[in-house]
Amino acid sequence: MNLTNIEKTLCLNINHAESFIFNTKYELIIKLILSSSTNEFRACEIGNELIKDYCSIDDLNRADLKDLEFKIKKIGFYRQKALRLKKAAQLIIQKFNGVIPSKYDDLILIPGIGQKSAKKFLSLVEDSNYVMVDTHLRRVIKRLFNSFENLKDNEIEKFVIDNIENKNLTNFSNLVTSFGKDFCTSLKPKCSICFFKNFCNFDK
Ligand code: SF4
Repeated sequence: MNLTNIEKTLCLNINHAESFIFNTKYELIIKLILSSSTNEFRACEIGNELIKDYCSIDDLNRADLKDLEFKIKKIGFYRQKALRLKKAAQLIIQKFNGVIPSKYDDLILIPGIGQKSAKKFLSLVEDSNYVMVDTHLRRVIKRLFNSFENLKDNEIEKFVIDNIENKNLTNFSNLVTSFGKDFCTSLKPKCSICFFKNFCNFDK
């Protein structure tokens, strides 16, 4: 089975629900920083609460670190993330005059925004088209094509770009990530009911 057929199968069977609902770029940046190694829906809930108290980049820049920590302490790595939020606000003010940038190379300078978050941001704000390699996409691709065990993220990205006929890379990434969360989970993949069980090379 090739990637295009995998995408077609996922399109028919997987319902991707976007977790990042947002009104402003500021809100989205906060939620993306909070979502690192955390359930995205949970990160967005906490983000919604946080922006009630810190309505703008300036508010966030002035925030008391302990207060920030307290407000987000229900999610993992909250101390690290509180610091990243402060530093992100600081950088956006100092380097971008308080305006959240819209270029990939600028976005990845923001503390807490890695390459996947930057691509996610651009796909949601600018409708840009990217392969978003995250822990789920990486795991699914490696299991489906088990000779790919040692593939690096940029090689996975290239493989997807080269092999998805319609080039709708964001859609493919979202579908595979949802599939990885619901079916091909890290510890207990649902192989017995998986659409790819006859093709998949995992654990054979
Ligand atoms: S058969 Fe199992 S390991 Fe392979 S893609 Fe499906 S859920 Fe994942």
